[in-house]
Amino acid sequence: MAKKKVTTAKEKNHLNKVASLGCLICGSPAICHHIRNRGDGKGNLGFGNRATAYETIPLCPSHHVGSFSIHSCKQQFESMYGTERELLYRTLKEIENMEQANDLFNFYNTKKGEI
Ligand SMILES: [Zn+2]
Ligand SMILES: [Zn+2]
Repeated sequence: MAKKKVTTAKEKNHLNKVASLGCLICGSPAICHHIRNRGDGKGNLGFGNRATAYETIPLCPSHHVGSFSIHSCKQQFESMYGTERELLYRTLKEIENMEQANDLFNFYNTKKGEI
């Protein structure tokens, strides 16, 4: 048996948010792709091999593992849509926006009638 990978509730929550964004490329229902941090041989050092819950991007099955996908032709994929790092940055930005929007929504909801 492989070592048990512990996913905390916080990480699960994050993964749910990532998936809920939908595919970064086409907006279809997505699953989380764990980005790889290996060095790329061009002098860019990786940050270790194991991706955490916070290093995931939402991709639909076809952009994830389909015939033109981040797994099947990563180089072309990255040259068209951006590198995994760029896509990760976008993902985290969108989640941040989503959280801010939720906070505002809750704020105005609880304050209803008082403003
Ligand atoms: Zn897609
Ligand atoms: Zn993947």
